[in-house]
Amino acid sequence: MDNGNNPFENALRQLDKALRHLKLTKFQTERLRNSEKVITVNFPVKMDDGEKRIFHGFRVQHNSARGPYKGGIRFHHQVDMNEVKALAFWMAIKCAVADIPMGGGKGGVEVDPKLLSPKELENLSRAYARAISKDIGPEVDVPAPDVNTTPQIMKWMVDEYIKQVTKNKQQITKKEKSKLMGTFTGKPLEAGGSLGRTEATGRGGSYVLLSLLKKLNLKGRYGKELTVAVQGFGNVGFYIAKFLSEAGMRVVALSDSRGGIVVKNMEKDGFNPDLVLSCKKEKGKLESCYCVGTVCDLRKGNIVSNEELLELPVDILIPAALENQLTQENARRIKAKVVLEMANGPTSPDADEVFFKNGITVVPDVLANSGGVTVSYFEWEQNLAGEKWSEKDVNAKLKRKMEAAFEKVYETSKRYKTDLRTAAFILAVNRIVEKLD
Ligand code: NAD
Repeated sequence: MDNGNNPFENALRQLDKALRHLKLTKFQTERLRNSEKVITVNFPVKMDDGEKRIFHGFRVQHNSARGPYKGGIRFHHQVDMNEVKALAFWMAIKCAVADIPMGGGKGGVEVDPKLLSPKELENLSRAYARAISKDIGPEVDVPAPDVNTTPQIMKWMVDEYIKQVTKNKQQITKKEKSKLMGTFTGKPLEAGGSLGRTEATGRGGSYVLLSLLKKLNLKGRYGKELTVAVQGFGNVGFYIAKFLSEAGMRVVALSDSRGGIVVKNMEKDGFNPDLVLSCKKEKGKLESCYCVGTVCDLRKGNIVSNEELLELPVDILIPAALENQLTQENARRIKAKVVLEMANGPTSPDADEVFFKNGITVVPDVLANSGGVTVSYFEWEQNLAGEKWSEKDVNAKLKRKMEAAFEKVYETSKRYKTDLRTAAFILAVNRIVEKLD
């Protein structure tokens, strides 16, 4: 039965599928299935009208066998505990797939940030950081941005966190401060961030897809250039569209929460993601931004709903928005040959089975979008060592990590005769179990 509404149940089903290939003890299985710590916070935030309002948030620390918990903070009006637990679990798997010495965590606040003023957003970010400050730290739990949270928000949070933990200290050294800055990643450059972090998730996804394409003999539906549809035109969606288009693919459809755009002629047109982004910033709406080649021209494209975008006849489908987009309900209508999961948890376990039967290759989130956490880890390393790496170094290290992770997952899928997600889980579970105390 597809339990589309409970991402944590879906995550556990994915785990169970991998466990069938492994001989784990009951203790090991229990450790993998249960979050180590689940924190709920209800905290006051001062609003512009002078009143205080209570907001609800979570931090889930799933597993720390391989290192400090690591995972983003999401601001969304529908955030709930099961979603955060699933995301924390996937982070533990993802860090192990990427082979970085960190565990899995995730946070969330139930809020629609679009309804807050900039001052209220800052107050909320600082208040949440205060509320979880006793449970995080550079060697304990290292949050980062996720949906609707930005480098600026990380800057407010790390600033508030440092104020909290140094309250009773006269002074701290530069080295101590740099280490404390490592409590949050995805910060702006001038606040201890890493070069290459903003683009990292999209860049990493493009390395993984290009590695996969070398193994598959994928023939484009419309000729040599592969066509791509991207659901979600935020940080991740924009960069994956940009890098794939730079690699010679044609981005033929894009969407955001309000709807999407599709080129009229799939056989030859493709969007220019840079132009679409600047147009969207200017006009505020993706729908007005049919930017093909070097011009934005309303007559060149059509509007498409998010549901329709998923079912377009393209070569590569990229969900880059939220969970549960590909389910039992629409899986049979998906026409792409490859699904590159840049969002976390976009495919339900039942949809996965349909894709496997239909010969659609799914590149799982825990591999495809692990470039973000990999460069977050690089940022953390730089903060702890008081260093600043060049963008060239960061990108070269990222490329090596992503290609190595892909090869390991691919090799595991051949060895165990499984899909790539189950292979990624087998690889990760083995790496985590090795470190369990
Ligand atoms: P973001 O807030 O920058 O962008 C999200 C985008 O999705 C926005 O364009 C929004 O309009 C769109 N969206 C929201 N609901 C939608 C819907 N129902 N249909 C279509 N579009 C919709 O967030 P992001 O950082 O780009 O994250 C996107 C996904 O990638 C999330 O699942 C996130 O967990 C995952 N992810 C992000 C990172 C990262 O480094 N930012 C790393 C790994 C995974």
